Amino acid sequence: MAVIGIDLGTTNSLAAYWKDGKAQLISDENGNVLLPSVVGYVEGEGYLVGSQAKERLITHPNDTAASFKRFMGTAKEYEMGGRTYTPMELSAMVLERIRRNAEYFLKEEIEEAIITVPAYFNDKQRSDTKKAARIAGLKAERLINEPSAAALAYRMQYGQEDKSLLVFDFGGGTLDLSYVECFDNVIEIIAVAGDNHLGGDDIDCLTEAWFLRESGLGEAVGIKLSGGGAGAGQQLSPELEARVRKLSEEAKCALESQAEAEMKLEIGNKVYSAVLNEEILFEICMPLFIRMKELFLHVLEDADSRVSEIDDLIMVGGSSRLKVVRRFLTELLGKEPVVLGETDKVVALGAGVYAGIRQRKEEIRDMLLTDVCPFTLGIGVAGRVNAAGNILCPMIERNSTLPASRRDRFVTTHDYQKAIDVKIYQGEEYYVDNNVFLGKLTIDVPQKPAGMAWIEVQFTYDINGILHVAVISETGERRQILLSNQALSEEELARYEKEMEKVMLPPIQQPENQEILQRLFACYENATGEKREYIAGMIGRFTYGMNSGRKRQVKDAAAEAAAWLEMLESQRDMWEEMLFDGELKAEKPEL
Ligand code: ADP
Ligand code: MG
Repeated sequence: MAVIGIDLGTTNSLAAYWKDGKAQLISDENGNVLLPSVVGYVEGEGYLVGSQAKERLITHPNDTAASFKRFMGTAKEYEMGGRTYTPMELSAMVLERIRRNAEYFLKEEIEEAIITVPAYFNDKQRSDTKKAARIAGLKAERLINEPSAAALAYRMQYGQEDKSLLVFDFGGGTLDLSYVECFDNVIEIIAVAGDNHLGGDDIDCLTEAWFLRESGLGEAVGIKLSGGGAGAGQQLSPELEARVRKLSEEAKCALESQAEAEMKLEIGNKVYSAVLNEEILFEICMPLFIRMKELFLHVLEDADSRVSEIDDLIMVGGSSRLKVVRRFLTELLGKEPVVLGETDKVVALGAGVYAGIRQRKEEIRDMLLTDVCPFTLGIGVAGRVNAAGNILCPMIERNSTLPASRRDRFVTTHDYQKAIDVKIYQGEEYYVDNNVFLGKLTIDVPQKPAGMAWIEVQFTYDINGILHVAVISETGERRQILLSNQALSEEELARYEKEMEKVMLPPIQQPENQEILQRLFACYENATGEKREYIAGMIGRFTYGMNSGRKRQVKDAAAEAAAWLEMLESQRDMWEEMLFDGELKAEKPEL
C-alpha cells in the first residue's frame, strides 16, 4: 500500500511518491507526467480525462470542462452529456485518473494521498477537495498548501540551512506568494498572499486580444478592441476563440527556447498572422506585473519583512518558465530567482516528500511542516451603537501559525439574557454577514444584568484544518463543536484538546525559557546602576523575541540570552578569581 503526493492543479495535475531517499514523479502508461485537469464528454463513448479531453476544448467547447478548480467551493455547474457537474465532481474525475495511473505505475494499491491546494483556499474549498478525493477512492486526510510543498522540495535540494524564502507559484489560474522561514527541522509559513485569478490563462487571454488586434482578425470579425481589453474574445465563436487561445498559449511557451514565435491562423482562404517576441510579451504582461507587485507588498507587510531579508525567491508553476516573468522578478527584487528544475513539477515533488514524511521514512522523519491559517476565524459580537449588524471578533487571525489556539471572555449584551448564541465565521470582513458562516453553539447563562454574565470561548485550529470551538459558561457548562469532515469520538476529542493545549504553551511560558527569564531577573536584582540598565535592556529583548510569534526569533532570543547569561556568570567567576588570585599573590613570598 503506497502513499502518494498529488498536485491537483487548475491546469495540470500530477503525482509523486517517495522512493530511494527522494521524491519521484509518477507517469502514465505513455510516460506522461502532466495530466491536464480537463474533463470531456463524448456522445456514445462517455468521459475523457486529461490530454484527450484537452484536445477537444477546441472542437467541443460545450462538452469539455477546464479550469474548474477556480470555482471549487462555489455553486457553479458545468453541463456535459445532459447532466450537470460541480467542480468537486470534475476534480474527483481527475483524481480518479491520477489514482489509477499511480496504481498502474507502482503496481500496488494507493493507501493515501497528500493533496496540495492553493494557500488561499477557504474551508469550503478544502473540504470539497477532500470530498473529491473520497469520491475518487482516495483517503486524503492531509491537504498541504502548494507553497509549503514547494519549500519542502527546495529544502531537499538545498539542504537544511536556516533561511527565509519567498515562494512564487505562478500556475495556469493562480498566483500564490508565501513567505517561508526554514530553521532546524522546521519549515514555517510566515505569511501568504494569493490571487485566485492571476495565472497563465490571463496571459493567454491578453495575448489573444493582442493577436486579434495585431493580425486584423478582430476587425475582420467585427470586434472593437481598445487597449488590452480582457474578454475581448467574447464575440468570437467558442470554437474560434479556443483556436486563438491555443495559438496564444503555444506562442507564449515557444518563447522559452526561441526569440520570437509566429502566430498564424487560416480561416477560409485568408491568413491572419503576427509575430510575438519577448519585448511584446513583456508589454502584454504589464497589467499582471502590476498586480504581482501588489501581492509582493502584501505578503512582505504581513510577514513584517523586507525584500533584503529574503534569502531566496523560488520560482514554481508552469508560468514561472516565462523569461519575461523572471526578468520582471529580477528587476523587482534586484537579484536572480532560484529555479528548481522544471518549475511545474516542484509542488508535486514536495507533496511526494511529504508522502515520505507521512510514512515516517527514516531519512526525513524529523522534518516538520508548520503551516499558517490563510483566513481569519472568529465569532459574531454585537456591534457598537449604530452598527448595522453584528461584527466579527477575530479569534484566530489569518497567517497565524498552526496549530493555533486562543481563549477569550465575552459578556451578555441584554439584561437577564438566558442564553448566548456563539456564531462562528470565517473571513476578513467587518460585518459578520459578509463572512462565511461555519456553525453555531448555544449556551445557557445565569440571568443577570447586561454585561454581568460571561462565557469563555476557545478556538483551536490544527494543522489538518480542523477547527475546534469550545464555549464554557461561568457555571462550568460546556458546549463544543468540531468543524471538519472527520468524525471524532468524545474520547478522541478530549485527547485532541489536551494535545492542543500542550502544543500551544506560548514560548515565554515554556520551562526552558522560564528558566532563562528567572536567571535574568536574578541578575537584575543583584545589579545596580549602569549594569542594571543593561540587564533591563536584555530582558526587554528577550521578551520581545519570545512574543514575536516567529519561531526563528524565539530561537534567536533564547540563544542570545543564554549566551549572554553565561558570559555574565563566567565574568563574575573571572572577577572573583582575580580577586582571590590577588589575595594569594599578596601572601606569596617573592622568589
Ligand atoms: P496549475 O498549477 O495552474 O495547474 P501549472 O503549474 O501546470 O498550472 O502551469 C500551467 C501554466 O503554465 C499554463 O498557463 C501554461 O500555459 C504555462 N506554461 C507551461 N509551460 C510553459 C512555458 N514553457 N512557458 C510559459 N508558460 C508555460
Ligand atoms: Mg500549481
